[in-house]
Amino acid sequence: MKVNENILISSLTTMRLGGPARFVLEVETPEEVADAYGFAEQYHLPTFVLGYGANTIGHDEGFNGVIIINRMKGISIETPTNAPEEKSDLASGQSSLSEGHKTWASAPERPEERELDHSPIKLKIMGGEYWDDVVEYACNKDLTGIEALSKIPGLAGAAPVQNIGAYGQEIADTLVEIDVYDTLDRTYKTLSRADLNFSYRKSILNTTSKNRYFVISITLELKPGEMPRPLYNSIEQYIATFNITDYSPMSIRNIVSTIRANKLPDPLVQASAGSFFKNIYLDESAADAAEAKGYPVYRGKDGNKINSGWLIEQAGLKGKLIHGFRVSDKAALVLINESAKSYQDLANARNEIIGKVYDKYGFWLEQEPVELQ
Ligand SMILES: Cc1cc2nc3c(=O)[nH]c(=O)nc-3n(C[C@H](O)[C@H](O)[C@H](O)COP(=O)(O)OP(=O)(O)OC[C@H]3O[C@@H](n4cnc5c(N)ncnc54)[C@H](O)[C@@H]3O)c2cc1C
Repeated sequence: MKVNENILISSLTTMRLGGPARFVLEVETPEEVADAYGFAEQYHLPTFVLGYGANTIGHDEGFNGVIIINRMKGISIETPTNAPEEKSDLASGQSSLSEGHKTWASAPERPEERELDHSPIKLKIMGGEYWDDVVEYACNKDLTGIEALSKIPGLAGAAPVQNIGAYGQEIADTLVEIDVYDTLDRTYKTLSRADLNFSYRKSILNTTSKNRYFVISITLELKPGEMPRPLYNSIEQYIATFNITDYSPMSIRNIVSTIRANKLPDPLVQASAGSFFKNIYLDESAADAAEAKGYPVYRGKDGNKINSGWLIEQAGLKGKLIHGFRVSDKAALVLINESAKSYQDLANARNEIIGKVYDKYGFWLEQEPVELQ
């Protein structure tokens, strides 16, 4: 376990806000997770589990506690026939604090017979792997199920926390189970997909059991093949525009990556936490009422949705600079930290946007990123 002291939270989070954290512990084995919590207990300090910091906002006063980061690397493939597992330690696990993101070493080749086999394949991924490397790995193996989740910044261990989703896929669709450390009874456990109670940007990990479990690894079930059509609107439009005939996982990954690069800030270049507000989900009668007022309601398999970005745009805020935060002119849900230095600036910007949207439409926008406190 690596122990670091007095590290600025702004250097650990993509919104680049937040004062010093007293301790930052980087755990490299499952056993070290219990040690890390023991360390915090010894100092009588609170804990916070951090990944890549792409969905976490630091506070100006910092955190007088212990931040724990999962640095466990590796992947193993469970063969469908219970044949011996194919294991690969794909990275050294020696990443530095500021590094976080490591690329895969050369991935193991699947046994030849699996090329012809269309049964699902389970991947067990250690939580310290960078999520997009996992997607690339799966696409390289022609496995479908997470290709639309390409380029979502973050670590694999954080992916189930808010049930990451994009372009018609959610991790809930393919996640089988996760291995965790339970801080309540100090034991190592496995939680199934059903245990996690997934919904839009939610699981028990950020609701009923918030801060209880440390995610050590995640297991996904992916299939050889292609995403079922029709695909998400913007992907279909791209396919039509560029006459694309290749629907393989890697092709969809490339399309999604291009769409995202044109629309969303690269966290290494522009400070943001991605979508700062959640979309609004409505029950049937509220959806009917919203439609009667002329608001665009999307009725999908995951419910009736109003795009919060549309509300922000209609409230005249798209592209505006508010307390140092730019409301992205490409995706109004995204706030880019152009010049803000304090959490207070963010609070002011957030309140102004929420207030304007509420005054015009009567909907309360809800913040997506978590606050580190
Ligand atoms: C440019 C940009 C685009 C984005 N696009 C999307 C998108 O399309 N879809 C989407 O869903 N999200 C998106 N996000 C949000 C973010 O990428 C995801 O929420 C991602 O899963 C965060 O991973 P992380 O490792 O950075 O988590 P962090 O921000 O470090 O942590 C997020 C939460 O997970 C908890 N956590 C982290 N690791 C663990 C662990 N090992 N065990 C237990 N709890 C843990 C933390 O305590 C915290 O509550 C975007 C963010 C950015 C900056």
